Amino acid sequence: MAKEQILLHACCATCAGYVLEKLAPDYTPLLYYFNPNIFPPEEYNLRRDELKRYADKKKIEFIEENYDPDSWLQVVKGLEHEPEKGRRCDLCFYYRLQQTASFAQKNDIRHFTTTLTISPHKKSKTILDIGREIADQQGLTFLAEDFKKKDGFLKTMAIAKKEGFYRQNYCGCVFSRKKLHFGES
Ligand code: SF4
Repeated sequence: MAKEQILLHACCATCAGYVLEKLAPDYTPLLYYFNPNIFPPEEYNLRRDELKRYADKKKIEFIEENYDPDSWLQVVKGLEHEPEKGRRCDLCFYYRLQQTASFAQKNDIRHFTTTLTISPHKKSKTILDIGREIADQQGLTFLAEDFKKKDGFLKTMAIAKKEGFYRQNYCGCVFSRKKLHFGES
């Protein structure tokens, strides 16, 4: 029997490597790149191209959503000075997961999830609560998995090293760019 499709919101190749491996036994994943938070456009393109290169290598469908950073700036307006893991990040997650779910629904994909929980710099519980809430609203199933668990983060870093992925040193938005660390969008 054919495996069911799952729409995987992915922020970059480094975070997607292990998540794709984890999903493979149970689902047919489709990669969905919707990350209008990423600044500047050159960085957005760099992360996209790296992820697409890996998708092509693995023969996984890759979908890029329209890049509209102004719409993202409107979403987080007034929260520019929030620290990472604060309210700006919550809205950033919500915006990206809501769009992911909308795309899934329009295209008859019943399941969705995200690579975002693989990062040790992000609040997984918040991401999972948001995913569940959106899934309920849209009549979909959200795979609520904290991918960093069971050495998920270490495993994805090992894949990134083996594949020679580009690895950014900030989360993604203009506000996080000043605070450099290993991060994902
Ligand atoms: S720090 Fe990362 S998660 Fe938070 S708002 Fe910026 S891009 Fe989004």
